[in-house]
Amino acid sequence: MKVVVVVGGVGGARFLLGVKAALGLPPVGPPQEGSAGHEVVALVNTGDDVWMHGMRVCPDLDTCMYTLGGGIDTERGWGRAGESWVVKEELAAYGAEPTWFGLGDKDIATHLVRSRMLRAGYPLSAVTEALCARWQPGVTLLPMTDDRVETHVVVDGEDGERKAVHFQEWWVRHRAQLPAHSILPVGAEEAKPAPGVLEAIGSADAVLLAPSNPVVSVGTVLAVPGVREALRKASGGVVGVSPIIGDKPVRGMADACLTAIGVETSAQAVGVHYGSRSTSDDGVLDGWLVAEGESVEVPGVTVRAVPLLMSDVDATAEMARVALELAGVRLD
Ligand code: GDP
Ligand code: CA
Repeated sequence: MKVVVVVGGVGGARFLLGVKAALGLPPVGPPQEGSAGHEVVALVNTGDDVWMHGMRVCPDLDTCMYTLGGGIDTERGWGRAGESWVVKEELAAYGAEPTWFGLGDKDIATHLVRSRMLRAGYPLSAVTEALCARWQPGVTLLPMTDDRVETHVVVDGEDGERKAVHFQEWWVRHRAQLPAHSILPVGAEEAKPAPGVLEAIGSADAVLLAPSNPVVSVGTVLAVPGVREALRKASGGVVGVSPIIGDKPVRGMADACLTAIGVETSAQAVGVHYGSRSTSDDGVLDGWLVAEGESVEVPGVTVRAVPLLMSDVDATAEMARVALELAGVRLD
């Protein structure tokens, strides 16, 4: 069985733990020797990536890699367990901007290795593969593209003029509290899917959209030319999982992102926003998982209501199992 999962960072990584468990794979780490050959490929958002202090930082790729490789700080949800912050404090002592971005000492080693390889000419997909040789996440982590795509957010500047800031500045520095006029994946139009991305979608038995941010995680992956078309003609079923329960994101500020693109914060509206593969012109879904007790109808999409809290791996595996079943995959 080959399962492709479109993911961002924390929500995506946690969902991947459940997908692996649902397939009988160890949630953390590589498959056991001689175990049945189920394969998971994660298509990871790179729109959050940013240069910081001369280092290329890829938050969503790293969150997936550390989570699935057993290195994540499980409380925080991002960065390394047992982290220290000496370099960050020293940079701040020099007044080296930006000071608001969390760069831990252990994490910095990852960024240094990555930056060095990128400067030597390796594409991000090859760099990611090299970093994963250490972490053994047990899934193939594919950046959506090797090209530079950066999500920018248009906000009001102090002088009253509109200005675009990097997504990280809006999200981390301003906690998404500055009203966003628009959110744009800059560079996406000219980007090409990374090697293997379209092939993975085409050969998948099922494609799942993780309960990741619909705008700046899943939306950014869908913005890479060719990805949406590949999903629309995939032979496997395509099923999404709602990150919205009730009228709120389970964690974080996805509501601010949805508001910026004119989509209401509800499982209903996000399902309609993703749209049906069969009855809409550009939709991607066959199935949509929403939280238990919600009555949602998305034209042309089979909706199932189940518990959607990823409180532990077992609960997440049950969500993934239902999603796979809805995509037409039977697991026994
Ligand atoms: P980020 O890149 O680290 O911001 O993470 P993602 O984009 O992958 O995921 C963020 C989304 O995960 C948020 O919009 C949350 O609502 C959603 N999320 C987090 N925990 C849960 C959960 O337990 N259940 C569901 N359904 N969604 C969740
Ligand atoms: Ca992210």
